[in-house]
Amino acid sequence: MAYAKLSGALLVRKGAPVQEAVSVPRAAPEPPVREGDGLLARHLKSLNLPTFLAQYQRLAHQYAAEGLDPSGYLLRLAEAELIERERQLIERRIKHARFPAAKSLDTFDFEAVPSLDKNRVFELARCEYIARQENVIAIGKLGIGKTHIAIGLGMAACQKGLSVGFTTATSLIHELLEARDEQHLVRLQRRLAGYKLLIIDELAYVPLSTAGAELLFDVISQRYERGSTIITTNLPLEEWSKVFGSEQLTSAVRDRLTHHVHILDMQGENYRFHHRTPPPATHHGNGAGRQKQAE
Ligand code: ADP
Ligand code: MG
Repeated sequence: MAYAKLSGALLVRKGAPVQEAVSVPRAAPEPPVREGDGLLARHLKSLNLPTFLAQYQRLAHQYAAEGLDPSGYLLRLAEAELIERERQLIERRIKHARFPAAKSLDTFDFEAVPSLDKNRVFELARCEYIARQENVIAIGKLGIGKTHIAIGLGMAACQKGLSVGFTTATSLIHELLEARDEQHLVRLQRRLAGYKLLIIDELAYVPLSTAGAELLFDVISQRYERGSTIITTNLPLEEWSKVFGSEQLTSAVRDRLTHHVHILDMQGENYRFHHRTPPPATHHGNGAGRQKQAE
């Protein structure tokens, strides 16, 4: 009701100069300091609303004189505005990251990977390593949960409002080669260098072409001490030359990535294989169970 009256008054005078619309008689005494004023002032500054900030108290006083109380209302409005903006930013970050699946650290069964320190992973989820431009390399066999952990850390970074990009090594190299051929490599490199966190999933035992290996090296070196990179791989670091080819390039890549690095050594069994749902027992064995298992 109070808001209808307030906004109505402002709407009627939409064309009028702000000064005139909100003018208060000069004789009006100073408004009392109210609980929540400090918080409201901080929100208005965060929202970049200097006129609100400059005028809301005098306006509140004027409207209070009429028996209305817009200040409490404005506080709630400003809080709602901030929460909504933050939610939208997180949503945008998650959408732009292009995660291949929705995974969270909360659904990760750490008991299945005893070599992985849960506390260390949750410490990483606080994203302080990103502020320090440190890297993470998750090493382990297929199906151990490397991608799950990488997405979980990526989601945690999005929740903090940080820009995140997710890609696989194969598609990244494909994209880089394509961009080079289509003359927009620099633009792509700039985008890749700009992420606070870039996740390169599945650096696997597939030898790269010389051009592909060099382009991947460029990405890693352009991000060196500027942003964090998470790499997941089934290859121990000593075997990376199988992917990058020349020893010289391999050590250049390794040096840059491991200068400030957290190694997540993931040992155990293939999770999906060991935790699959057994097919329902059927008397006739019509194949439905087998199909479910294969999914
Ligand atoms: P990797 O990348 O190491 O090959 P993924 O992360 O793709 O393995 O894991 C395969 C599937 O198994 C995914 O659906 C993942 O969510 C699930 N998974 C793997 N490990 C775990 C775990 N410890 N707890 C819960 N789910 C897991
Ligand atoms: Mg994977």
